[in-house]
Amino acid sequence: MSVTEFSFRKLAIGVFLILLSWMCAAAPAPTRADILRGEYGPYRANNDLLYYHLDIRVDPEKKFIGGKNTIRFKMLKDDTRIQLDLHDALKVDKILLGSTVLHYQRDSGAVFVDFPETLRAGRVYTIDFYYSGNPVEAGRFGGITFRKDSSGHPWVNTACEGIGASVWWPNKDQWRDEVENMQISVSIPNGLVDVSNGKFVGKTDLGDGYTRWDWRVHYPINNYDVSLNIGNYQHFAERLGNLPLDFYALPEDLDKARKQFAQAKGTLQAFQHFFGEYPFQKDGYKLIEAPYAGMEHQSAVTYGNHFANGYLERDWTGVGISPRFDFIIVHESAHEWFGNSITAADMSDMWIHEGWATYLECLYVEYMWGREDGLKYTNAYKSKVANAFPIIAPRGVNSTPPQDMYFKGALFLNTLRSVVDDDIRWWALIRGFYQRFKYRNIMTEDVVEYFNRETGMNLTPVFDQYLRHASLPILELTFDDAKGAVSYRWKADEPAFAMPVRVGTKDHWQIIRPTTVWQTIQTPLTHDQFEVATDFYYVNVGKP
Ligand SMILES: [Zn+2]
Repeated sequence: MSVTEFSFRKLAIGVFLILLSWMCAAAPAPTRADILRGEYGPYRANNDLLYYHLDIRVDPEKKFIGGKNTIRFKMLKDDTRIQLDLHDALKVDKILLGSTVLHYQRDSGAVFVDFPETLRAGRVYTIDFYYSGNPVEAGRFGGITFRKDSSGHPWVNTACEGIGASVWWPNKDQWRDEVENMQISVSIPNGLVDVSNGKFVGKTDLGDGYTRWDWRVHYPINNYDVSLNIGNYQHFAERLGNLPLDFYALPEDLDKARKQFAQAKGTLQAFQHFFGEYPFQKDGYKLIEAPYAGMEHQSAVTYGNHFANGYLERDWTGVGISPRFDFIIVHESAHEWFGNSITAADMSDMWIHEGWATYLECLYVEYMWGREDGLKYTNAYKSKVANAFPIIAPRGVNSTPPQDMYFKGALFLNTLRSVVDDDIRWWALIRGFYQRFKYRNIMTEDVVEYFNRETGMNLTPVFDQYLRHASLPILELTFDDAKGAVSYRWKADEPAFAMPVRVGTKDHWQIIRPTTVWQTIQTPLTHDQFEVATDFYYVNVGKP
């Protein structure tokens, strides 16, 4: 997802509230609902999702949704209960195993489904979960919103990262486990269009004023990516090699969309250059106008960036580079590789989505306009970093990491490139990283293990300092100009923090290898002449 204009105020309020709660008492404990949503509890861990068929009818006038999700899963151990999730505002109509009606118990958004006989490990089961009701608009992007476009046609969209997909449909609402593939059937009033994820299969007139639109997702998909876009959409298409590109916009925006969406091609080309083939070839790539800034919905990216370059018509990073491209097309499309293909297994490690997607913006700039502009764009993000909390949030409690996961995440990856200090190797490393983990759900430990193994370095303290602590490492320098000497060490939270860094002058950098213990070198440079290459490493410098 993209960051919002309001996020800094939200962040400030959030920081204030957390500080306040620390001053008054202990840190706020997660609620029962957060634990049920966030924890990979025993009734989630006992099964492995295989397939969903979400088959629903949407009445835009009544803001009503109803239907069923057919859920196929394999049991990993013998048990009589599984956990699914559905927002309290929606009614469970019935849950069936074949023709057997199953009992269930609802608890703070969780739905515990009980089976009359023990489900056996290794066997595959299919249940039909029927539900209906008026979903509430909730969360940052509304979860599901029922709007009208400017000509009065219904416009229904979903965007539920954070609040969770169970705000509008029943599913196993967590990040660790994904279905292998999925079918989405959406029945809507005749004349409207539904654009969901995957490949368009066809539409069927149901003869009662409704038409069913069928979509097939050929790849694993995370819950929050599953989406509806119902409206008076106009469609146009292109190709990138053999990849179909399908574009959807409202009639009044069609001309603007034809112009602006042309950027999708170059964006995908840039990311294919760095990481390899677009991950969802069989599903194609879609870009769909939506009433919010944007969302990375898998193979069906939603777009609301005013058909203008920059981010909501502003120079997003403030250094004159953002106005050259459409921030939302680039950022959200980057998520096809990082967020959708590679997904974090817990929301705590969401920097794997947002830090990497932000870094891919920087790579896009470098691909298009060269290394210098890439660095300029990357370093402009420093002004947006708070360094107030670690970018990895507490695990298993449905906790969204702070916004630093975007900007600090990207600046950290740029730092890592400088640590590797060999671009040919770096390009191979990041491509290899993507290829190693594509279509998988991973945690930070997997990332660290990969980079340690492939570089032969112990980067664990570096990853930990940037991701698990709030503060940046400080390179402390003391000068003895009379002796022509400089002493240096890292001041960091990680006792074993050790990271090479370039120092000297812009036209003559030299690499030193500071640890947390003082070392001294001779230098012809004085205190005032001696610089640290802070465009390449996101560090603070202590130079009294
Ligand atoms: Zn994002």
